Amino acid sequence: MRPDVIVVGLGTMGAATAYELARRGARVLGLDRFTPPHGRGSHAGGSRIIRLAYAEGADYVPLLRRAYELWPEVGKAAGVELMTTTGGLMIGPPDSTVVGGALASARTHGLGHELLDAGEVRQRFPAFTPADGEVALYEEVAGLVRPEAAIGAYLRLARGAGADLRYGVTVTGSRGTADGVLVETTDGPLAAARLVLSPGAWAPALLAGLGVPLVVQRRVQHYWRTPNEDHALGRMPIWIWEYEPGRAAYGLPAAGPADPTAPGASPAVPGVKAALHHGADATDPDAGVGEATPAEVAAMRTWLAGRLPALAATGWLGAKPCLYTLTPDEHFLVGRHPRDEAVFVAAGFSGHGFKFAPVLGEILADLALTGRTAHPVALFAPDRFGPGRLAPGDAGLAGSP
Ligand SMILES: Cc1cc2nc3c(=O)[nH]c(=O)nc-3n(C[C@H](O)[C@H](O)[C@H](O)COP(=O)(O)OP(=O)(O)OC[C@H]3O[C@@H](n4cnc5c(N)ncnc54)[C@H](O)[C@@H]3O)c2cc1C
Repeated sequence: MRPDVIVVGLGTMGAATAYELARRGARVLGLDRFTPPHGRGSHAGGSRIIRLAYAEGADYVPLLRRAYELWPEVGKAAGVELMTTTGGLMIGPPDSTVVGGALASARTHGLGHELLDAGEVRQRFPAFTPADGEVALYEEVAGLVRPEAAIGAYLRLARGAGADLRYGVTVTGSRGTADGVLVETTDGPLAAARLVLSPGAWAPALLAGLGVPLVVQRRVQHYWRTPNEDHALGRMPIWIWEYEPGRAAYGLPAAGPADPTAPGASPAVPGVKAALHHGADATDPDAGVGEATPAEVAAMRTWLAGRLPALAATGWLGAKPCLYTLTPDEHFLVGRHPRDEAVFVAAGFSGHGFKFAPVLGEILADLALTGRTAHPVALFAPDRFGPGRLAPGDAGLAGSP
């Protein structure tokens, strides 16, 4: 029987969407070119930051509140601990985007937070040595989520709810029909009433018709031996540090065991993670993510030396490169495809989408089944860069993990 919805890409957003659709009783066919979770796209590496006082904009906070409700529910349904609260430090000059933006979100939505000067940070969190003049917003509810375990959980739950999930099938295009869509795949054409496209780093090819100049870049997550108790899970908060205007680094304590049976799970998961959020050339996802180079390891160690010195001095355990898919303003693309009534897109997550997966699953299921959602998604309109709407040099540097 023809599916109600085909979901293309069963990584972060597609897995959550397939589950949410199947849970609501829709006939779902999910397709992925690989076998998720895997290390070829945007979701590998053992951990992702979740935080509520969102520096990228107060408009994200209602979506985050819902994600915070849903992560434990999904974990409970799957019998896996997907989210761990660690607290979070947003560090930088007081007028930086990371600190100022988080503070603006906290004030707009009345979110619990503390403002710490550099001395208070050094005293309470000795792993960190901010310079005098730098400050931090501390948020108790920040923490981490486990991406491979989450995607594995979503796919198991989706299949359990009746979704038909097929791996090793690449989608090459789609076109509208009188009563739905026809999807071209390496297994031949497939028809459905609606289509959700969530192809991650392959969006520039599959969503070329949107006309949005998406850029795919490689980012390296480095893992370091835990040097002492100040860097242990339960003691070390997640952190984002704006060290120059518009440039940030971030890190997380060792996430602990994710799902060790998950294909693609990084062997370096036990380490403390640190990564640079900015700075790389565009890359082709078909070229693979590669390995960390000696220069990349050295650059990370140099960055850490003045700010998390004990971490810089400890052993480097390994690295996991992953792919960002950046929109010009670093806000997501979520909504109806402007050129096709029956197609919905979820792309351009610009290096900060993972934490939203459960609420985006709800949103995409709403859209695919009813054409609308009660969640606030105007910020993500896929047609916002339409002819004349994209200012030259509209680079957008607001995003953090
Ligand atoms: C290094 C790094 C660190 C990050 N840190 C954070 C963080 O701390 N917090 C946070 O919230 N976010 C973070 N992110 C961002 C977050 O991980 C991504 O936004 C999110 O995983 C994107 O999900 P996705 O579904 O778009 O892509 P993916 O999870 O990669 O899924 C896309 C899927 O589509 C499939 N696919 C692609 N093309 C086709 C096709 N033609 N046919 C069939 N299947 C196809 C792929 O195989 C893949 O499985 C980070 C990202 C990176 C790279």
